[in-house]
Amino acid sequence: MEIAKTIESVRNLVKAARSQGKKIGLVPTMGAFHIGHISLIEAAVKRCEFVVVSIFVNPTQFGPGEDFEKYPRPLDADLEICKKAGIDVVFAPAQEQMYGAENLTWINVEKLTEQLCGQSRPVHFRGVTTVCAKLFNIVEPDIAFFGQKDGQQAIVIKRMVADLNMPLEIAICPTIREPDGLAVSSRNKYLTKQQKKDATLIYKSLQKCRQMIDAGVTDSETIIAEMRKILSQAPSIKIEYISIVDAETLQTTDLIARQVLAAVAVRIGSARLIDNILVDAGG
Ligand code: AMP
Repeated sequence: MEIAKTIESVRNLVKAARSQGKKIGLVPTMGAFHIGHISLIEAAVKRCEFVVVSIFVNPTQFGPGEDFEKYPRPLDADLEICKKAGIDVVFAPAQEQMYGAENLTWINVEKLTEQLCGQSRPVHFRGVTTVCAKLFNIVEPDIAFFGQKDGQQAIVIKRMVADLNMPLEIAICPTIREPDGLAVSSRNKYLTKQQKKDATLIYKSLQKCRQMIDAGVTDSETIIAEMRKILSQAPSIKIEYISIVDAETLQTTDLIARQVLAAVAVRIGSARLIDNILVDAGG
C-alpha cells in the first residue's frame, strides 16, 4: 500500500493503474475509521481494481465553533485498517496541498443545501462539495463511494455530479449501525455511556416513522409528533430537527406520496448526531 501525501504522487499512482486498464475507486473520508468507513472501503475493493482512500479533515466544511480542532485524527490506526482491507493508495494530504493561502473558488449546490443540516451549518455543504470536486479532479475515479448515513450529503453530491457533468458514478452504501440501532459515527466518541444509550432513541424514532408510513399514515406532521415523543424520552436530547422530505428535492412534504427521506439531527452533550432512513410510501 502506498501513502501519497502530495497531489502529484497520487496522480502518478492512479495514472499507472489506469494505463493498465484498472477501474479506479475513491473513498473520501476524514479518517478516524469505524465499521461504517470499512463497509465503504470493502464495497470499493469489491467493485474496483485500484482503490484510493483519502483521509483529510477538511477545514472548509466546519463552521466557526464546530469540532475541527478536536476531530479525532488516529492516522496510524487508519493506515493499518486500509492495509488490511487491501487498499492500493491512501491519499493523506496536508492542508497546504488541498488549499492555497486563499481559496476563491467554491462549488455550491443551491436549494438542496438550504434544508435540514444546511439550516444550522450554512457553510458545511459548500465545503463538502468543494473538497469532493477537488478530490474527483485529483484522483479521477470511475466510482466514488459515500454512506447513506450522511443522507443529505449523498443527495447533494449526486446532484453536483449530474449538474456539472462529472464523469464518475456515485455509489451510496447502506448505514452501518450498532446492534442497538445507533448509527456508527466518529462523533459517538464524544458521548458518555448514558448519552450513548439515550442516542438509541434516534433510530427508534426513525423506525416509528417507517412503521407509520408502512401502516398507511400519509400526514407528515402526525408522524413527526410521534417521533418527537420518542426523542423527548431522554432529557439529554436536544432536537435540532425532525424532517420528512422528498428524497430528491428535499422539500417538505405534508402528504407522503413517494419516496421520502426521514431525517433527524440532535445534540447530546457536546455531540451533534444525525441519522436518516429512506422510506417508500405504500411499502
Ligand atoms: P466521514 O469520515 O465522517 O466524512 O465519512 C466518510 C464517509 O463514510 C461518508 O461518505 C459517510 O457517509 C460514510 N459513513 C460514516 N458513517 C457511516 C455509517 N455508519 N455507515 C455507512 N457509511 C458511513
